[in-house]
Amino acid sequence: MNQNEEQFLEEDLEKCKKMNCNANCCHNISPIKEWIVEYFMFHDKIKNELISDGVKINFKEEKVFFENCSLGKMKCSFLKHSPEGVDLRPIECKIYPYRVDWHSVDFDNKVVILFCIDENCPLVKDKTENEKYKKEIERIIKRDFALLFNGAQFGVAFFKDGEYE
Ligand code: SF4
Ligand code: SF4
Repeated sequence: MNQNEEQFLEEDLEKCKKMNCNANCCHNISPIKEWIVEYFMFHDKIKNELISDGVKINFKEEKVFFENCSLGKMKCSFLKHSPEGVDLRPIECKIYPYRVDWHSVDFDNKVVILFCIDENCPLVKDKTENEKYKKEIERIIKRDFALLFNGAQFGVAFFKDGEYE
């Protein structure tokens, strides 16, 4: 598998069209943003490599913005610098077209709320595939939030069309 194909790690989900997808997730989410806690956990250590690839990193208050992470469906700089078997893409890339609603994360009850930003993604359109993908997304969020917040075990809630799924 070449690196362009690896960019679409939803490869086990047969409805993910990867390189042939017209929805084109990588174009849709630029600039990529994350909160400072995610940046320091995953990306500060590859900062120099990202910059030398041409990625622009801008800090603004408690958030970090990345631009030029890819030329559309070309290589992903974050994957290029991920260690073997590790996916260092920002969380919002890993779970596209879902997104973490950081403002409404319930830290008291430990619940992460996700909402969908692209109803045209084939993984969302197909109900069966969407259920499979949501399970995978839940796994990713639980794993990454445990890393970000000292092992805390978060639950995940999906919000779509004005209501919880
Ligand atoms: S938009 Fe959806 S189906 Fe298309 S490549 Fe991205 S994740 Fe896969
Ligand atoms: S970081 Fe990688 S997966 Fe995310 S938008 Fe950029 S190229 Fe695509």
